[in-house]
Amino acid sequence: MKKHNFNAGPSILPRIAIENSAKAILDLNGTGMSLLEISHRSKDFQAIIDEAVALFKELLKIPANYHVLFLGGGASLQFCMVPYNLLKTKAAYLETGVWAQKAIKEAKLFGQIDIVASSGDKNFTYIPKGFTIPADADYFHITTNNTIFGSELRYDIDSPVPLVADMSSDILSRPVDVSKYALIYGGAQKNLGPAGVTFVIIREDILGKVDRPIPTMLNYKTHIKEGSLFNTPPCLPIYTCMETLRWIKNLGGVEKIEEMNKRKANLLYDVIDNSKMFIGTVEKDSRSLMNICFVMKEQYKDKEDAFMDYAKTKGMVGIKGHRSVGGFRASTYNALPIESVQALIDCMHEFEQNNA
Ligand SMILES: *Cc1c(COP(=O)(O)O)cnc(C)c1O
Repeated sequence: MKKHNFNAGPSILPRIAIENSAKAILDLNGTGMSLLEISHRSKDFQAIIDEAVALFKELLKIPANYHVLFLGGGASLQFCMVPYNLLKTKAAYLETGVWAQKAIKEAKLFGQIDIVASSGDKNFTYIPKGFTIPADADYFHITTNNTIFGSELRYDIDSPVPLVADMSSDILSRPVDVSKYALIYGGAQKNLGPAGVTFVIIREDILGKVDRPIPTMLNYKTHIKEGSLFNTPPCLPIYTCMETLRWIKNLGGVEKIEEMNKRKANLLYDVIDNSKMFIGTVEKDSRSLMNICFVMKEQYKDKEDAFMDYAKTKGMVGIKGHRSVGGFRASTYNALPIESVQALIDCMHEFEQNNA
């Protein structure tokens, strides 16, 4: 049976990126060597990481004074690397979900944290608006897409202080005005590649302002200076990221990807909004294009398990909502084909016909 992969992360990747990664593991570009067996300092690997960086810069129109890094440790390590490198006395954070809270927890180890707004009062079902960013903060941190709750800050905000964004789950899903950000980071395993590599887009002039000593591996300057090759980087995940970036470019870039993402999300949100049984959990103007969260209406609550079972028989994978939201979450990342969204919709219609 055909599977429809709605996993939240690690998640669906372009088929071509997986196939080409498999080929590179067996024989990298006809060299007779596996990608897994070559030095990260070899000419062959240098060409791979160079192309990945160049494609990232091209696709997101990253200005020349920014660096693109591929590091280990996941987005979770960035939760501490950001304040380690940037926080002198005070930083501002927007609390929009569990990942934002985790970032806040780490930052508190380094200084005073101002939570400028929180949507925690309504279980993170909206993106706060009308907040004021303190002009004396060292930086302002946002989570652009809240993977667990399905809300998204889908525009580039103006900040009076350096803007730092966790874009783990919506990187390359839309054009971004990178010049409005000082630092963008994320784990690759949602929208870009396999688990094991973290991307960082950083403007170098924000560094060197804190007095504390920074361990070599946690210092962005180390990785900028060494082109992400201070130590052995995650070579295979970087290769797959490069293949995904090629796929995005061949499709027509992030503008085209955004158009496809909107079409997929609108299709599913329309069905949810017109459903007798299902209801969306996030306020309409805060809805994510990447993670679509919905539950059954109160009078049908007892049918959630039955729908999950039915969906499984139709090949749906990964649609169970996170335990802090319940119900269902369909992650509609870049690589998810519209046919899979349509299959889920058919499944919802059929279930509704038989049960509502
Ligand atoms: C998944 C996720 C993380 C955690 O990423 P790791 O690479 O597992 O550390 C952080 N932030 C957001 C928004 C995520 O979706």
